[in-house]
Amino acid sequence: MAVPLAAHKSRVMHRSLRETPPKAVGGEGVWLIGEDGHRILDSSGGAAVSCLGHQHPRILAAIAKQASKLAYAHTSFFSSEPAEELAERLVGHEPGGLGYVYFVSGGSEAIEASIKLARQYFIERGEPKRARFIARRQSYHGNTLGALSAGGNAWRREPYAPLLSPSFSHVTPAFAYHEKRDDESEAAFVARLAAELEAEFQRLGPENVAAFIAEPVVGATAGCVPAPEGYFKAVREICNRHGALLILDEVMCGMGRTGTLHAWEQEGISPDIQAVAKGLGGGYQPIGAMLASGNIVGTVRNGSGAFQHGHTYLAHPLACAAALEVQKTIAEEKLLDQVKERGRQLEQRLVERFGNHRHVGDIRGRGLFWGIELVADRGTRQSFDPKLKLHQRIKSAAFAGGLGCYPSGGTADGQRGDHVLLAPPYIATSGDIDMIVERLGVAVDSALKDIG
Ligand code: PLP
Repeated sequence: MAVPLAAHKSRVMHRSLRETPPKAVGGEGVWLIGEDGHRILDSSGGAAVSCLGHQHPRILAAIAKQASKLAYAHTSFFSSEPAEELAERLVGHEPGGLGYVYFVSGGSEAIEASIKLARQYFIERGEPKRARFIARRQSYHGNTLGALSAGGNAWRREPYAPLLSPSFSHVTPAFAYHEKRDDESEAAFVARLAAELEAEFQRLGPENVAAFIAEPVVGATAGCVPAPEGYFKAVREICNRHGALLILDEVMCGMGRTGTLHAWEQEGISPDIQAVAKGLGGGYQPIGAMLASGNIVGTVRNGSGAFQHGHTYLAHPLACAAALEVQKTIAEEKLLDQVKERGRQLEQRLVERFGNHRHVGDIRGRGLFWGIELVADRGTRQSFDPKLKLHQRIKSAAFAGGLGCYPSGGTADGQRGDHVLLAPPYIATSGDIDMIVERLGVAVDSALKDIG
C-alpha cells in the first residue's frame, strides 16, 4: 500500500524513520551550511570523516580532473592511475611491513576483507583449522554481518544475533576509566588484560585462532579511548607466540587523526592487516582500504594466486583520485604537525572547561581525537540512566547552538555511559578549537539542566 509522503516527509530511509533531518546544502572549511542558512561548526567531521573540512578546492579539482578522464573501469579488466599512485603512496615504503593495499568503499568492507584475507592466508599456509577470531567487548567494527560479528557492541548485535558468526569471541577492552581497578597500577591492568587474552587463546586452542582484532584508539563505542602503555606490545607478543595475526581497525582513528599517519606508530608495534577508511578520502568519496603485509599477500600469491573476495566498486578511480589528493594535501601542507599542535590545544581547553565539571568523569584522546564522558557521579563513575538519553540531548543542544559533535552511549548494555566525541578537521584554526569547546560547554550544561 502506498504511504502518503507527508507521513514521513521523505522517501529516504534516514537513521530515524520518524524524523527527517534538515538538509545540508553547502560546506566551507570547518563549516556546514543548512538549507535555512544555519551554520554548523563541524567539530567531529561527521563521524571523524572530514579531515580536510568541506569543499577543499584541491580535492574538488582532483575529482573533476579524474571524472573528465575516466570515472569507472571494472577491476577485473583494468587498474587505474589514481589507484596505482595511491597504493604507492600508502604502502610503497612498506610501513611496518604493510606492502599491499586493497581498496574498497568504506570501513565495514575493509573489515570484511581483513577477516577473509586472514582466513584465506591460513588455509593457504596449510593451517585450515585457524578460523577463530578474538575481538573485544564494547567494540564496533562495522555493520555488515562479518564486521558486526567481530564487534562486541551488545545492542547493535542483539537483533541479528542468530545471523552472526560464532567464530568470534570477545575479551575485556583496554578501557582504563571503567575496567582498571582503583588499587591496580597501569602495568598490572595491562598484565591482567594480557592474561585474559592468553586464557582466551588457550580456551579456543591457540592452533584454532586466526587473529585478534582491535582499534588502537577506540572511537564510536567509547569516545576516543587510547590503550594504556604497553597493551599493544603485549597483545602483539601473544599473537606472535601463537602464530596468529594482529588486525588493527584504524577506520576511525587512522590516517593522521591521532597525530601520526597510523595510530599504531605510537604503540611501538605494527599489525599484519589494517583497515582504514574515514580519513583516507576525508568524505570526498566513499573509500576504505585494507593494508596487508607482504608475507600474507605473498603466501596467497604463491598459493591459489587470488584473494577470493571482491566488489563491483573496488579501487574506484574517482574515489582513489580523491583520496590521493587528500593524502597529498595532508603531507604537503604538513597537517600532521597541525593535528599535534591543535590537539594539545584541544586537550588543554577541554581540561580547563570540563576538568572540574561535576558530571564529566573522563577526558581522553590523542591528536585531534578527543572524548569526554558524562557521569551522574564522578566518585562512583556511575552513568546517567540511559532512558534520559543525555547524549541525544547534548547533540540537539549543540546543533541549536551551531555545533556539530558526535555524542553517543547511554545504552543499558556494555556501552558505558554517555560521551561526546570530537574530531575536528586537521585544518581547524586555534579560534575554531576555542569555539568548539565553548559551544560544547554551553550544550552540555543546557542538556544537563534539561534532565534536572
Ligand atoms: N570500524 C570502526 C572503528 C568504525 O568506527 C566504523 C564506523 O564508524 C567502521 C569500522 C565501519 O565503517 P563504515 O561505516 O564506513 O562501514
